[in-house]
Amino acid sequence: MASDAVQGEIRQVRPKTEGWKQKLDTDGRPLLQFASPKRGKPPEHLADFTADERAAKITELGMPAFRAKQIATHYFTHSTSDPAEMTDLPAAGRAELVAGLLPPLLTELRRLETDKGDTIKFLWKLHDGALVESVLMRYPGRITLCISSQAGCGMNCPFCATGQAGLTRNLSTAEIVDQIVRANRVIADGQLGGKKKTDHSMERVSNIVFMGMGEPLANYARVLRAIRTMVAPAPDGLGMSARGITVSTVGLAPAIGKLAAEGIPVTFALSLHAPDDELRDELIPVNSRWKVDEVLDAARAYFDATKRRVSIEYALIKDMNDHGWRADLLGEKLNARGRGWVHVNPIPLNPTPGSIWTASEPDVQWEFVRRLEAMGIPTTLRDTRGKEIDGACGQLAAADETA
Ligand code: SF4
Repeated sequence: MASDAVQGEIRQVRPKTEGWKQKLDTDGRPLLQFASPKRGKPPEHLADFTADERAAKITELGMPAFRAKQIATHYFTHSTSDPAEMTDLPAAGRAELVAGLLPPLLTELRRLETDKGDTIKFLWKLHDGALVESVLMRYPGRITLCISSQAGCGMNCPFCATGQAGLTRNLSTAEIVDQIVRANRVIADGQLGGKKKTDHSMERVSNIVFMGMGEPLANYARVLRAIRTMVAPAPDGLGMSARGITVSTVGLAPAIGKLAAEGIPVTFALSLHAPDDELRDELIPVNSRWKVDEVLDAARAYFDATKRRVSIEYALIKDMNDHGWRADLLGEKLNARGRGWVHVNPIPLNPTPGSIWTASEPDVQWEFVRRLEAMGIPTTLRDTRGKEIDGACGQLAAADETA
């Protein structure tokens, strides 16, 4: 592990794990896991299928195809899997039918509320005991849910508590979608802040960020199916706007290209955190596969294909990646790829006293922003709403909790 060094007057802290040992591959580099370990498959669920596949399944069961739409309406629109609420279905065999199509996928183990109830963090247990999190946040005019795409993660970032345990498995499409349906139920039941209003029945999650556990582009096929269900109009899906869905990656360049070609204009965010390969190789081990320039090219190509402005996420970590020259280098690299295609979101890391992973000083944060803005790059210093969720993939906070 590299030791701290001094570059001129500026301290350079090198990334390293604290309290855990990073798994290495045979070449002694941080291990990257792209393939999901084989485990018992989660039960098949209505949300795993497209509308046509659902209709075909119902017909196979000897029922008219419109029953599929009725059940989908209960699940996606009314956020329920309870047969007792589905009185438009024939009573005979209803419980068995619903149990087969809407098996329980997520068991709520724990709920943490912060921000006076406006932020709720859920810990879910999956059918095989694997654990994932989602975080629900009420903002003025929108409700955002941060969701997980994998149990664990194979990207092995040294700051990340999720990464240290490696990849447990990919989530199924329905396990991804069900995080949203469960959150919609919580909102409809009036359990998310905003207590003054009495009727929450019309409120739903409006924005999704794939910044919970996992690297979404490493579970590409299931994540894409889940997104298609999110944007499918009711009753076939959740009827959400693609613009309100943010897919965030540490930089799997070929998959970024694939996403750009899907024709679904989701918002794309690249967790960059360093503009130079020397630091990023250590901070984000997948950088050993796809270098800074290659992922920035892929991000620019995403903009060209979708006309959606790309977000660059940059966690400001004291003395590690917050130097003025790095802001300048980032600005140069972004401007070299054109104007108006990107904005930068620096996010001060939550302070962790005594850790090398700690927040930049406020004057350093503002200097970083100032330098980018001086180069004409729109830059927004993000707040650290809901202490649990800020950071790279939402997981800097997990490191925070365990440090
Ligand atoms: S920071 Fe994100 S990509 Fe890196 S190990 Fe953690 S969850 Fe995976």
